[in-house]
Amino acid sequence: MSSDIAVGFDLGGTNLRAAVFQGLRSGHAGVTTPLVQRREAIGDDRSPEHIVERLAKMVPELLREAQVGALHLPVGIGFAGMLNGKQGMVANAPNFGWREVPLGAMLRKRLGERYTASVYNDVNAIAYGEFALGAGRGSQDMLAIFGGTGIGAGAVIDGRLVEGANNSALELGHTKIVFDDSARACSCGLHGCVEAYVGGAALQARARQELSHKRARSAAIALAGGADKVNPGHLDAAADEGDDYALCLYSEVAPLLGVAIANAVTLFNPKVLVLGGGLLSRTPVLRAHVLAAFEVAVNPPALAGLRIEDAMLGDDAGLIGSALLASGAA
Ligand SMILES: [Zn+2]
Repeated sequence: MSSDIAVGFDLGGTNLRAAVFQGLRSGHAGVTTPLVQRREAIGDDRSPEHIVERLAKMVPELLREAQVGALHLPVGIGFAGMLNGKQGMVANAPNFGWREVPLGAMLRKRLGERYTASVYNDVNAIAYGEFALGAGRGSQDMLAIFGGTGIGAGAVIDGRLVEGANNSALELGHTKIVFDDSARACSCGLHGCVEAYVGGAALQARARQELSHKRARSAAIALAGGADKVNPGHLDAAADEGDDYALCLYSEVAPLLGVAIANAVTLFNPKVLVLGGGLLSRTPVLRAHVLAAFEVAVNPPALAGLRIEDAMLGDDAGLIGSALLASGAA
């Protein structure tokens, strides 16, 4: 059964966001503006029981505020963590310190039959939001790449979100791009992942470490007010001025992401390639280097007619996508 009203949650490492939407599936203009919305800090108590209780209390409160009610109302949760399967089992969520937490089952039990709760990987929810009502609108085949502290991706093929057998598809950030003894350690526990080179957190940590050496020279140090304060924005501003350190770093890491994206486009042959996330939108020089490598590496037939678009929905994409996906699942 589909529903006109849907609740979307975005459960990230810092904030808990929620919104009630009406008519998302109509695709009409204006439906991405929520009836009501809320944002709270996740806070210190990150136990599954506490988080589930907060979500479960918030749903009827938001619906009362929006003055709507319905039976079997879909509730979609975009969650920043690795899932296993389609029932909302959280395999690993470092932001929350969770391993093997049955978030979906806990929520369904607590919410009761009035609601249908589904849990989605946060990047998949963002990608689906962009596909349905953002930069991928009108296409049937979309690949979305999000560069932030890490590198995430989502794909929709023939109008369907690609989730994979264990719900772990499109982990582009953890595809291996270097596979020898020099490979850098990644936050996932393995070595040589794209994210270990060009994820925002890895890039920043590496630059701070390298620039803290006495003989290191880079305009980024002065721009940041110290080597220990350098972030990717400073690196990009330095690269824009022709800074040797920043350009040398970019010449090593940007092609790694460019090749990873090119390989994904070669495999999936999307109509639209959506680029988003804080890193890709706020570091134009890095982005230009990434795209230059992408264009050299991609299989030419997959490039024909490909549209490259910026993500449009911003921070709301995950809320919209999880509410939409839950509407389809309800
Ligand atoms: Zn990794």
